[in-house]
Amino acid sequence: PTQKIPVLVPGRLHPHAVERIGKEFELVALPAADPKLVTPQIAGTVRGMSSMTTVSAAFIDALPNLEIIANFGVGYDAVDARHAGSAGVMVTNTPDVLTEEVADTAIGLLLNAVRELPKAEGWLRAGRWASEGNYPLTRGTLRGRRVGIFGMGRIGLAIARRIEAFGLPVSYHNRRAVEGVAYAWYPTLVELAGAVDTLISVAPGGPSTEKAVDRTVLEALGPKGVFVNIGRGSTVDEDALAQALADGTILAAGLDVFRNEPNVPDALLECTNASLLPHVGSASVHTRKTMADLAVDNLVSWFTEGRPLTPVAETASVVPGARK
Ligand code: NDP
Repeated sequence: PTQKIPVLVPGRLHPHAVERIGKEFELVALPAADPKLVTPQIAGTVRGMSSMTTVSAAFIDALPNLEIIANFGVGYDAVDARHAGSAGVMVTNTPDVLTEEVADTAIGLLLNAVRELPKAEGWLRAGRWASEGNYPLTRGTLRGRRVGIFGMGRIGLAIARRIEAFGLPVSYHNRRAVEGVAYAWYPTLVELAGAVDTLISVAPGGPSTEKAVDRTVLEALGPKGVFVNIGRGSTVDEDALAQALADGTILAAGLDVFRNEPNVPDALLECTNASLLPHVGSASVHTRKTMADLAVDNLVSWFTEGRPLTPVAETASVVPGARK
């Protein structure tokens, strides 16, 4: 029966998700999530949506029959989930299935930043090992470090477990201390930064974390400081970070995410003590396929069982028939 339900895919989406939506629903494609592209036919029929792009309040309002938005990705700061909740629209994300992959990437980024592994490989590939000799000893080391995690949630805990296995102490900052977690909690980010020399951010985007990592936090981290960001670029004051890397306020950084992707500020590109990745945290064939399945399984569960698998907090109480 679900094959007659129109499900919208605005913009690009993982091919496996698109293929499954085409089989299990009536696939409706749009080039972008732009209210101007919504025809009366789409507005009158579309009941579900899956996307990995910005979904504004205006776009939700342009689809009066929309019941559920299945976001591809655990981070859903691009979706106006608060507006969706007040309009009676369910929003789901893809937690857990990507947690270990993203934690692995965070560790890779940390090692790249501290031990300069990409630069050392560049040295070999440029023939400099043979012509000039050994790559210079790295100033950075993981040995003796104290690691702070900004955002001790699902991925933060998976990173913490890995850091523990490296033999390093872990502490963290969230708005609230996590029950049952023995790592030291700091009530503010600047206090955490002052207590550690290695800060790993895996906090979500959105207004509450906007530019949380600023000049003051970087100064508190100090001259041995290493900053790794696997969360969202919006949580960082990128100008202050580039400045801190250039003037020695901190030692090094490893970044997977940026404020205005795919554009990376020149000031960061110029920092040779930064290891930069193009948002590849969860980007393996294996993990992206499990994310695609979970996004579509949320739509299937909603339209067959009347409840989603992984609702986001802002829409947790939305039920079928709630659309206003
Ligand atoms: P969780 O919701 O499990 O964890 C988020 C944590 O951040 C919570 O512990 C929360 O605690 C804390 N937090 C939220 N807001 C604030 C705030 N204003 N100040 C301090 N702490 C805060 O999410 P996941 O671990 O599953 O994912 C985390 C984020 O990682 C995603 O939102 C996404 O942005 C990013 N991500 C990046 C990927 C990549 O490819 N680079 C891939 C996957 C995820 P509390 O609410 O108590 O404050």
